[in-house]
Amino acid sequence: MEKTKKPKNAKFAAFIKKNLYLILMIVCVIAIATMVAVTYATKQHSTDSTVDANANLPTDESSGKNEPSEPTEPTGPSEPVESAEIVFCLPAKGEIVGVFSNDTLVYNATLNQWSTHEAYDVAAEVGTDVKCVYDGTVKSITTSVLRGTEVVVEHKDGLTSVYSLLDSDVGVTVDQKVKKGDTLGKIAESGTFERHKGPHLHLELYNAAGDKIDPVQYFESSDK
Ligand SMILES: [Zn+2]
Repeated sequence: MEKTKKPKNAKFAAFIKKNLYLILMIVCVIAIATMVAVTYATKQHSTDSTVDANANLPTDESSGKNEPSEPTEPTGPSEPVESAEIVFCLPAKGEIVGVFSNDTLVYNATLNQWSTHEAYDVAAEVGTDVKCVYDGTVKSITTSVLRGTEVVVEHKDGLTSVYSLLDSDVGVTVDQKVKKGDTLGKIAESGTFERHKGPHLHLELYNAAGDKIDPVQYFESSDK
């Protein structure tokens, strides 16, 4: 058995010696191929990792961008505080025969006395429509010798408008919801306390505290 092995080993050694250059070349080729393969694999991995990193970054950025952009949207809805500015329409078209005056006495020829005039007076022909200055609810309709037929309308923000010296034939009823511009009644000569001014509307406005205030401040700037 040993005798037969020796020749085989000798043959193998002879084969190695004979093909040494070939073997070295094959080893070199394998080594180079391995290096190329490893280098390529590393590049692929690094490329993938940079792609992954880039892929992650935009999502982080976009989510980061979304967060600040969302708070700016909520600030939008908080701005439209729906307390719309109250703007009156003119209660009647005509000559202004009395302005609001709570610090200056005005002579009242009918009553023959000096007094303040905390109201807005518009003179117009008998039968001229008197409009509600703003949305509200009719609270009372009364008739007296001094103030004629008087319609009281409550609005939001505690405002109350009072339309005096109207014709007794009014077009609304108590508790009726009315809109800005709705006809409440008509100009007449129903009262006596401002007879010297002729047929006109005497409009008073009360605030939430119950004080008389100038209705003109709620008119459109073009109507003031
Ligand atoms: Zn008046």
